[in-house]
Amino acid sequence: TAHAQAPPAPSAGRARPGREPGPYETRIRALMARMSVDEKLGQLQQLAWTGATGPGGGQTAAAEKAARRGRLGSVLNIYGARTTNTLQRMAVEESRLGIPLIFGLDVIHGMWTTFPIPLGQAAAFDPAVAEWDAEVSAREARSNGVHWAFAPMMDVTHEPRWGRIAEGDGEDPYLAARLAAAKTRAYQGDDLRSRRHLAACAKHMIAYGGVEGGRDYNTVDVSEARLRNLYLPPFRAALDAGVATVMASFNTVSGVPAHGYRHALTEILKEEWDFGGFVVSDYNGVQEMIVHGYAADRSDAARLAFNAGIDMEMASTTINEYGKRLLRRGEITTERLDDAVARILRLKFRLGLFEHPYADEDAAIAGPTKASRAAARAAAGRTMVLLKNEKATLPLDRSGSIAVVGPFADSTDLRGSWAGPWAEKFRPVTVVDAVKDAAPKARISHVEGVDASGRNTRGIARAASAARATDVTVVVVGEAATLSGEASVRSDLGLPGHQERLISAIADTGAPFVVVLLSGRPLTMEGWLDRTPAVLQAWHPGIEGGNAIADVLFGTVNPGGKLPVTFPRTVGQIPIYYNHENTGRPYDRANHYTSKYLDLAYGPRFPFGHGLSYTTFDIGEPRLSVSRVRAEALRKGDTVEVAVAVRNTGRRKGDEVVQLYIRDPVASIVQPVRRLSGFRRVSLGPGKATTVRFRLTAEELGFWTQDPHGRFLLQKGEIRVFAGNSSLAKRGRTLTIV
Ligand code: BGC
Repeated sequence: TAHAQAPPAPSAGRARPGREPGPYETRIRALMARMSVDEKLGQLQQLAWTGATGPGGGQTAAAEKAARRGRLGSVLNIYGARTTNTLQRMAVEESRLGIPLIFGLDVIHGMWTTFPIPLGQAAAFDPAVAEWDAEVSAREARSNGVHWAFAPMMDVTHEPRWGRIAEGDGEDPYLAARLAAAKTRAYQGDDLRSRRHLAACAKHMIAYGGVEGGRDYNTVDVSEARLRNLYLPPFRAALDAGVATVMASFNTVSGVPAHGYRHALTEILKEEWDFGGFVVSDYNGVQEMIVHGYAADRSDAARLAFNAGIDMEMASTTINEYGKRLLRRGEITTERLDDAVARILRLKFRLGLFEHPYADEDAAIAGPTKASRAAARAAAGRTMVLLKNEKATLPLDRSGSIAVVGPFADSTDLRGSWAGPWAEKFRPVTVVDAVKDAAPKARISHVEGVDASGRNTRGIARAASAARATDVTVVVVGEAATLSGEASVRSDLGLPGHQERLISAIADTGAPFVVVLLSGRPLTMEGWLDRTPAVLQAWHPGIEGGNAIADVLFGTVNPGGKLPVTFPRTVGQIPIYYNHENTGRPYDRANHYTSKYLDLAYGPRFPFGHGLSYTTFDIGEPRLSVSRVRAEALRKGDTVEVAVAVRNTGRRKGDEVVQLYIRDPVASIVQPVRRLSGFRRVSLGPGKATTVRFRLTAEELGFWTQDPHGRFLLQKGEIRVFAGNSSLAKRGRTLTIV
């Protein structure tokens, strides 16, 4: 490819700093030897180009000035080949050393081509879906001057009230770890210099998903064991996959704001794990330590964050402003400064920015393509979870008459949180349009019934008459995108407004109907589920959402997604999750959800891993390659192979997710009743069977203890291994570790 070439730099004639040949480390050192303290501190600063709110928002003029003076490392909220090139030119051609800027953007589930929200992607139980998103996103973003995605988000959470559950992979650390690794690799590729790849960012460190009551930015008090067994695994997996950067989180961790939590950002991440990339703060996160009441003032915030391990400060400017003074006073060290600068320069070298600082303006991808839309549609199809399907209500017939009702029936609000203003000009396909397209011979009527906020209910009667007059009704209901995502916390997880009344009115007609649910989180359904024959959980499915829903409604795609998070019956049960610890009572250990509420039926509404298909499957007992294994051998890398037979026992081709769970019945710290330790999505024709093979390693069989220095234990004793198609999997065998 031809790249837009920069005019000769002011220092033309001899190699520009950083452009001297040689391995990165030599070049980094040579460049740093020429940098002043101000220039070094400048590399640690990231400013926001546009759109940002709050203090430090919209720092365009400041960014230009700092770029020209060589006092800026990075800019966020910026994209577009021409826009980024203009600013990049100021840094590369006007500053003394010409160090290029890194441009970052929240490309969370697509740039132009919006894929399903990450929680939906997790429901696919198929890392390929996350990879398709990352590959398409990386191309679109990089060609538009973006080098760095603030993704993947990998905050495990037990809190459906928390709006950011939509951005992550749900409640399971094993699933989140597999997806974090897959997505990181797909964003970054083998070579970050390639114009098809982006630097990834593992976020948010750490335990953000543990915020009390699901209230965003809130308090987290967490034991070391939970930190390591629940929250850290995806970060470790991303690191092993080579993730370039890590972002700190807004919550406190056991009394310390995460931006000042040295234990995670330095002791674990940089020392124990030997992370060579850099840690970026979250937006104003450094300065907010003052609001937390942890830092006395801006200088104190700078000192605490920098010494805790923050390398680059997003939006607030405390390290940049106070760094020199802190150095003079010996409150931060030159070694630490050089370490942070080297980490940032390293990524700039890895991205090839010194050789090719500019985006190729002629090669910028201008919008979704046929291929990217096809990928988004296929991805969305794989994320759909069939929660319920009585009397084979689904799939629908393409002939006859269909009423499509509900506030989201003809809505383009299908992208979900973090679609970004950049994606707005590309209109998603609505469900009604897609249904018309998929069933051209059917008679299709459309009635909104209630509006999205649910206030206007005048259409309910009309929707009910439409239902009476047609063969089947598709009720498309759910949450608007703005109800999930950052700072979008809900206390009630029912359908907003009067949408439930709409469902009841349809149910009252006695005519067949299905509910399609759009949401960024598990919703509660107690008021209407029993009266509803079929429910399809469609998450926020993205730009091709309507088509993907129609694909599933008519059976072109047989749904095979599974819940990556437990669906509670009511908010009062939260937190409720499948991998909770054993309790002392009741004595029946088979109970998965032990505490019973007096006023509520036992267990969740839908368990983790649940999802139906238009066909049926039989999953056999797990067969172990050995029934006894030596702990010592496992520690040295030996594995236990588990084979599970799966057969499609129905009449249609379909997908099943074979899930493997283990239970460690006796351990030196109380263990989860079971935990996911393998999954594989397979596609089988009617009557066909296959055997899925898993490998259990020390990593799956052991656990982290409370030791703050990180002690991983693989204990002798029995382990139960279960296989099935949800977290309630019953068929098990025993493995003995000796
Ligand atoms: C969010 C981050 C995001 C950043 C930049 C923050 O408010 O917590 O996830 O990457 O903004 O937009």
